[in-house]
Amino acid sequence: MKNSVRVALIAHDLKKDEMVDFARKHEKALSAFPIVATGTTGSLIKKSCPSLDVECVKSGPLGGDQQIGAMIAEGTVGLLIFFIDPLSPLPHDVDVKALTRLGSVYDLPMALNRSTAEMLVKAATT
Ligand code: PGA
Repeated sequence: MKNSVRVALIAHDLKKDEMVDFARKHEKALSAFPIVATGTTGSLIKKSCPSLDVECVKSGPLGGDQQIGAMIAEGTVGLLIFFIDPLSPLPHDVDVKALTRLGSVYDLPMALNRSTAEMLVKAATT
């Protein structure tokens, strides 16, 4: 993957610890890419991985998922890692659906859980 293309990182509330752990584990590999993240996810990642270049958009429920969806449509996001919580009701469920739909429309490498994310990071950095 070209290093100018952004990696998008998003995690629902109950998955944020897992995302921070994932970002820490792969900090060196991820530091080769500009990162874009939804507000809360991004600020947690920034705090625990200071070497990463993280641009925060709005929080997911306030439009952040849609902002990242627009970046996918514009071709400025090349990989999406989105740790979804499938067991909690979410006020912005439609935004989540719209974002993952665009990921499919644009044939974007997209991980919606940790095990797929591990595979994608390995593939994107080798
Ligand atoms: P957040 O948004 O990182 O601002 O919590 C994530 C989401 O719920 O889509």
